Amino acid sequence: MLYRDGSMIQGVLSHHPEFPAKSEKRLMNVLVIGSGGREHALCWILARSPLVASLYCAPGNGGIADVATCLDLDIMDFDAVIAQCRKLDIDFVVVGPEAPLVAGLVDRLDAEGIKSFGPSKAAAVLEASKGFVKDLCAEIGIPTAAYTRFSNSIAAKEYVTKQGAPIVVKADGLAAGKGVIVAETIEDAHQAIDSMFDGAFGEAGEEVVVEEFLEGEEASYFALVDGKDILPLATAQDHKRVGDNDTGPNTGGMGAYSPAPSMTPEMCDRVLDEIVRPTVAAMAKKGRPYKGVLYAGLMLTKSGPKLIEYNARFGDPECQVLMPRIKSDFLPALLAVADGQLAHVDLRWRDEAALTVVMAAKGYPGQYEKGTEIRHLDTAGKDEHVQIFHAGTTKKDGKIIATGGRVLAVTAYGKTVTEAGKRAYAAVDKIDWPEGFCRRDIGWRAVKREKAG
Ligand code: AMP
Repeated sequence: MLYRDGSMIQGVLSHHPEFPAKSEKRLMNVLVIGSGGREHALCWILARSPLVASLYCAPGNGGIADVATCLDLDIMDFDAVIAQCRKLDIDFVVVGPEAPLVAGLVDRLDAEGIKSFGPSKAAAVLEASKGFVKDLCAEIGIPTAAYTRFSNSIAAKEYVTKQGAPIVVKADGLAAGKGVIVAETIEDAHQAIDSMFDGAFGEAGEEVVVEEFLEGEEASYFALVDGKDILPLATAQDHKRVGDNDTGPNTGGMGAYSPAPSMTPEMCDRVLDEIVRPTVAAMAKKGRPYKGVLYAGLMLTKSGPKLIEYNARFGDPECQVLMPRIKSDFLPALLAVADGQLAHVDLRWRDEAALTVVMAAKGYPGQYEKGTEIRHLDTAGKDEHVQIFHAGTTKKDGKIIATGGRVLAVTAYGKTVTEAGKRAYAAVDKIDWPEGFCRRDIGWRAVKREKAG
């Protein structure tokens, strides 16, 4: 079968069901849904695909506008999304963020006969309900932290008192990465339980999962899944805390690098065999076949890898280090996921590591100023090893204006994570944005390992 990587595009064109030999010249109109650094990285790689005729992004941002046509669209208004797809003759939709997936955008596109990349609502439950995932792990023996689910605070607090601290309290549903409290004391855990049941996370906190505190190094594992077959992508590590030395409050992610040195080939095999493969098989058996990218958040404990959580989409900022490492045309792989033909896909990867430094507005993850100007991005992005992805920007009168908390992801390649980090920080230092900040120690674990040889 000729359905492999970018070097065999003719094969893809003639064998893809949408592209019978007669219409080989027909290229695709592709729409990416989302507006963050993840979506910039996705647009960046898709813009390179020779299969793409027109690339759109809804709603996009100031950086995405350089590679795709941005559409002013509410991505949770599915009628509006469908109407745009019809108007622009969209052949394929790539859904970036979790909210539209969990709300069923892929199901709706399917019903309208529009092909898309991402899990159905039934399969996105792997991200939408921590309780579902914990029960699934228990049912099929996937290694994870011991847990109990609660629907009232009294029972949850009693359990915490009995278990002791440290202990982890999680809102069941989607809480934009903020619904997890790693409590150092019983009092902190009780407070977290109270605030969740008091509605701090809305519906997401109607049920709470309390789980064992796991010790170890964290890593992320990404794989494409087409319902039955799995194509492992790569590994990454990110930095969730806002401050150097992993201090301060949790954020959406202040930086990442790929590959994660702790994810040796043996460890990747274990994760695939013990965690990802059984999950994919169980989801198919439950009538919830998983299609899309499956992102496993892992704790590498003394007794082996354990699942912390699943996400139903690419990580942000992990996507900003994964996409730059892919050499092949990525579009055929995404199409193969949608078509259930992943078994015929292979991807080529760069040997280099990639590292990204997130630049955020001062004050993030708390209150921060919007509307400040960012200068010298062109100079900073001149190095051929550097790629700057925009997360929260807009273009106004030719100027780049910060509009979000996390604003830029400055990515660089290197033979080692250390080298990639040096290049990324050299670029960061050329950017003139007094109202922004970044961590100065992204990649420290890998750098320490590389130093030790
Ligand atoms: P999650 O949103 O489930 O990935 O959790 C956010 C962060 O909380 C993770 O990246 C971990 O740092 C931490 N965390 C979650 N669950 C546990 C656990 N059982 N033990 C230790 N840390 C945890």
